Amino acid sequence: MIHNNILEAIGHTPMIRLEKMNHPENAEVLVKFEGLNVGGSIKTRTAFNMIEKAEQQGLIHENTIIVEPTSGNQGIGLALVGAVKGYRTIIVMPDSVSEERRKLVEHYGAEVILIHDAGNIGECIEQCLQTALKMAEENPDVYVPQQFQNQANPMVHRHHTGLEILEQVAGPIDGFCSGIGTGGTITGIGEVLKAQNPDIVIWAVEPENAAILAGGTVGTHLQMGIGDGVIPDILNQKIYEDIYIVSDEEAINTAKDLARKEGIMCGISSGTNVAAALKLAAKLGKGKTVVTILPDTAERYFSTPLFE
Ligand code: PMP
Repeated sequence: MIHNNILEAIGHTPMIRLEKMNHPENAEVLVKFEGLNVGGSIKTRTAFNMIEKAEQQGLIHENTIIVEPTSGNQGIGLALVGAVKGYRTIIVMPDSVSEERRKLVEHYGAEVILIHDAGNIGECIEQCLQTALKMAEENPDVYVPQQFQNQANPMVHRHHTGLEILEQVAGPIDGFCSGIGTGGTITGIGEVLKAQNPDIVIWAVEPENAAILAGGTVGTHLQMGIGDGVIPDILNQKIYEDIYIVSDEEAINTAKDLARKEGIMCGISSGTNVAAALKLAAKLGKGKTVVTILPDTAERYFSTPLFE
């Protein structure tokens, strides 16, 4: 099969059973490895769908400049989609995200505006958003997809990621957990899995230093891509029954174990998700099935404690 361009190759990522990290008396844990997606993360899916939908709705045209505030992977995805489709792309991101993310965005030919993170990631993301919206106000050619409120974001997980999971597992799914950045992943996939099994147990997962849904305070943490310090508009707050909190140390140690024991080179928030999935698997017990997502690849974290 020949793809006409790389965008046609988005999705269809593998589902992998954790063999060594899980206990034999627990539910089995299956991970969908989005690090193997085009662009190295799950966010290529949302970037593609947000731009496709904007094109279909006539919101953008060939001279459009795509400007998006993002803590990283969404920027890489939009830079990639912009490169293939020929849109100038500008990404506004906190200076606390890994240098690799900034360089990847630039390598796809997009521009980066860095906003200083003074220790509150939520405030910084808000400043990134305000910067992007101001650019749109001043220039009618600027389009801001706004992943935190764009329905094309959860939609792609309902229509693609979630259905891929049902097809791959081809049996009952008893548990699902996911960290929350925009909430697109947990909302879209969660809704599909819950429709298939109304008794499924779904956990939202939050970093210890940004457990905003659990009523905690927001500081700086290492679990990039989740715990942005805002409760997103698109998050379906009814889709999860419980919240599981993961420390930076647990997330990083679990991500290291994924590389060393399972050979899976994934990012820090993948460690977050798997730490929660293993707990959920212990709770549900043998004979049940828990699914989680590994949102991105380890190779954009060389400059972070994941590689220390
Ligand atoms: N992990 C990483 C590394 C991410 O980049 C993102 C996207 N922000 C997420 C998890 C969370 O995904 P979502 O935005 O769908 O909640």
